[in-house]
Amino acid sequence: MTVFRHIFCFLIFIAATVLCPRQSDAAIVQNIRLGDQSGSSVRIVVDLSEKTDFKIFPLSNPDRVVIDLPKTSFDIKESALPKKDYLNKIRLGTKEAQTGRIVLEFNRGVVIKKSFLLTPQSGFQWRLVVDLELMAKTDELKQVTPEWYDNSVTEEKKPVRQTTETPKNKPLIVLDPGHGGKDPGAIGVSGVYEKHLTLAMAKQLKTLLEKTERYRVKLTRESDEFISLYARRRFARSVNADLFVSLHADSIRKPGTRGLSVYTLSEKASDKEAEKLAESENKVDLIAGIDLSGETQEVTDILIDLARRETNNHSSYFAEKLMTEIRKEIMVLPNSHRFAGFAVLKSPDVPSVLIEMGYLSNKEEEKLLRQASYREKLAKATVRAINSYFAEKHKANFN
Ligand SMILES: [Zn+2]
Repeated sequence: MTVFRHIFCFLIFIAATVLCPRQSDAAIVQNIRLGDQSGSSVRIVVDLSEKTDFKIFPLSNPDRVVIDLPKTSFDIKESALPKKDYLNKIRLGTKEAQTGRIVLEFNRGVVIKKSFLLTPQSGFQWRLVVDLELMAKTDELKQVTPEWYDNSVTEEKKPVRQTTETPKNKPLIVLDPGHGGKDPGAIGVSGVYEKHLTLAMAKQLKTLLEKTERYRVKLTRESDEFISLYARRRFARSVNADLFVSLHADSIRKPGTRGLSVYTLSEKASDKEAEKLAESENKVDLIAGIDLSGETQEVTDILIDLARRETNNHSSYFAEKLMTEIRKEIMVLPNSHRFAGFAVLKSPDVPSVLIEMGYLSNKEEEKLLRQASYREKLAKATVRAINSYFAEKHKANFN
């Protein structure tokens, strides 16, 4: 009898140990620190007693960044949290399953650039680091926008003929101005946003392409709005695009680096730099908190994989043509045709390239990219490449 009772108690003990989380597993937030670098970059550091998982996502109206920490409690008071002129407030709370939630409410748009955990060292315990980019306040943005939209060249040369019907047999080109809305993309040395330059360029290119009367042209966005990478790709597929050209401009820490490059899809990046770039461009969807989990099945389909191989040949072929033409006009990077796993290029059946028009971190190149005449030069070279690509494709179809 006593033996059974002992066994019974032992089983209860085991069950309690397994089922109830031990106190030592739970992390405690001990402090939240905020550092602002160079005016627009903000680093949030959350001091933690233990290692913990974390989930970070943005919410809008008002602009908020939410940090969820499972099995985490707080050892700080809201009143003791840092105050900043770009912050409305920081709130602390607990949701189900003892998830500690930190909500930072901003008085302007904000983009999550990266987040990572730091291991304990030099007197610090575990730290969660979140890097953010603050956007200009809306009124500041309006003041500077007209200069970035310097479209004077294009506006003088409006398409001669306005046709209402567009023959179906003309190739359809989808131009994709990178970023938009709450996602500014790279921010240039003078404060120019990548999203404005890419849209300005796309509109110029559209005008020139339509002037040839050889193509139909559609843009993934016509205004300053946020569109996920997946939606851009889906749009190109849904309209049966014959070519997809995504437009971007880059920014890196080395201010001396400049030059254009063009990317085609590869699961394996051509170099470390290309890999890093794809990573940062792909992050856009994570920034917006969009769930891309529905995609994997499509992408793993073997037939699609085969189609993609064929498509990749076309993409690479076009990229080579593009570089041949652009090289005549403007400065390009060494090995200017590169390969990386850009999410936006992953349409299995639409030949796709991504143009990084230059570096916004380079003073001269940023200035050039802001000039409509410079973009016009680039757009003209792109039109020549597109002409030659479709001319040869057309020939190949009849041989
Ligand atoms: Zn970009």
